[in-house]
Amino acid sequence: MRIEFNTISSEQTKALGEFVSSFFTAGDVVLLKGDLGAGKTTFVGGVAKGLEIKEDVISPTFNIMKCYFKGKLPMYHIDAYRLENMSIEIGLDEYIEGDGVCLIEWPQYILPLIPDDHLDITLLNKGDNHRHIVFESDSTHFSELIEGLRRFSL
Ligand code: ADP
Ligand code: MG
Repeated sequence: MRIEFNTISSEQTKALGEFVSSFFTAGDVVLLKGDLGAGKTTFVGGVAKGLEIKEDVISPTFNIMKCYFKGKLPMYHIDAYRLENMSIEIGLDEYIEGDGVCLIEWPQYILPLIPDDHLDITLLNKGDNHRHIVFESDSTHFSELIEGLRRFSL
């Protein structure tokens, strides 16, 4: 299943994140793909808002992972960018399919840790404030979320 959107502001990308957050449950794994500046962290900010997490979401690039425990559901935000070409095990598996939703930027660098059951979100910078955002999953677990998005308008 697949659905795509075109956003024209970071607020619209956040609104998508906020909307889908209501579908997330403990153990969900969400992969965020796309180049630097595509809007992955911005999207996670929207998810945090939907989960009623009051803290600002900042890029976890330098500490690999940030945990947010004060919302409706624990949120684990991983940025695996700095793990490129490193074959180190730093215990991330505890948070992937753990007791919260886990959102992962640069998942290609930790592929062995990614379960088959996941939601893919690909963001593409189309210039200026335009972003193309594709939601895709082979897992029936995310069919409700994707069907839900069909009723969502920006
Ligand atoms: P990434 O995590 O993919 O590197 P960020 O979310 O950190 O990207 O940065 C995206 C940047 O692009 C932010 O400065 C944001 O304000 C800007 N931006 C402009 N338009 C959009 C949009 N439509 N969606 C998301 N971000 C946007
Ligand atoms: Mg980022």
